[in-house]
Amino acid sequence: MNWYDKRYHTLDYELKETFGQKVVKLSLDAGFTCPNRDGTIGERGCIFCGKKGSGDFAGSRDTDILEQMEEQKNRLSSKWPNAKYIAYFQSYTNTYAPLKVLRQRYETALSGTDIAGMAVATRPDCLPAEVLGLLEELAQKTFLWVELGLQTIHQKSAEFIRRGYDLECFTKAVNSLKDKNIRVVVHLILGLPGESDKDMLDTVKFVSGLGVWGVKLHMLYIQKDTDLYDYYRAHPFDLFTYDQYINVVCNALEILPPEIVVHRVTGDGVKKLLAAPLWSLDKLRVLSGIDRELKRRNSFQGIKWKKNNSQSQGRIC
Ligand code: SF4
Repeated sequence: MNWYDKRYHTLDYELKETFGQKVVKLSLDAGFTCPNRDGTIGERGCIFCGKKGSGDFAGSRDTDILEQMEEQKNRLSSKWPNAKYIAYFQSYTNTYAPLKVLRQRYETALSGTDIAGMAVATRPDCLPAEVLGLLEELAQKTFLWVELGLQTIHQKSAEFIRRGYDLECFTKAVNSLKDKNIRVVVHLILGLPGESDKDMLDTVKFVSGLGVWGVKLHMLYIQKDTDLYDYYRAHPFDLFTYDQYINVVCNALEILPPEIVVHRVTGDGVKKLLAAPLWSLDKLRVLSGIDRELKRRNSFQGIKWKKNNSQSQGRIC
């Protein structure tokens, strides 16, 4: 399959369109914490958050940022020898530190070789004016996006996952970032307990209307290093089957406006920690199931052929 063959607007496609080549993320742990863990808002974090602060594949926080980046580049270079990179501040809350510290971490990452841009994962309640100012400054110098973990618009579910902020806080943060021309990516979880398919798709519709740059979708999965695992064992609830997930994620993709960049369509659990659903470990099967289902529906969500493609026929197939 060529990189433009997907029926939805993938990040891979977007980055290749922007940079004209393969661009890969380097997942970093910059040594921050999170107000939902340090006692400011909560001590146990979001119910699904593991010991690595939702950065299971990030480098080690005991290692310098440039070293983390070099180590990952070395690992990735056999697969993509000429790639450029996005420095991805993934673990914990990456705007939750004094401004001086944030600037030092970000500028260090951007000083690495072959860095095409930067991504910062954070919480909407951790974007004070001075941090927004710093991000605005960096967005003028590099390809920057900021990721916010909304997961759901439904307050009952937000309380269950112990998210610690309300929808108004999230919407305000999205608007503040957009006002500063900073790309926004929103994380959503499909399959939270108690949510119907309609509830999930209402969340997708809400995000579709916000004018954000990207979304990340994944199924709820349960890792053993989380409070969700303890809850699940004490109060078992239904998780998506493979077929159910393929159906609902395709429904979600069909709702998203074609210009929204889809960063992820499946989960990324750690094999040795994943308790359920085990089918989610087979990412290729999930991705091909989604491709097959969108094809069966004859659904095209997204991208047009490259303008200079001689076969330009409209939307990709
Ligand atoms: S906001 Fe992120 S780092 Fe903090 S507890 Fe929730 S998932 Fe974990």
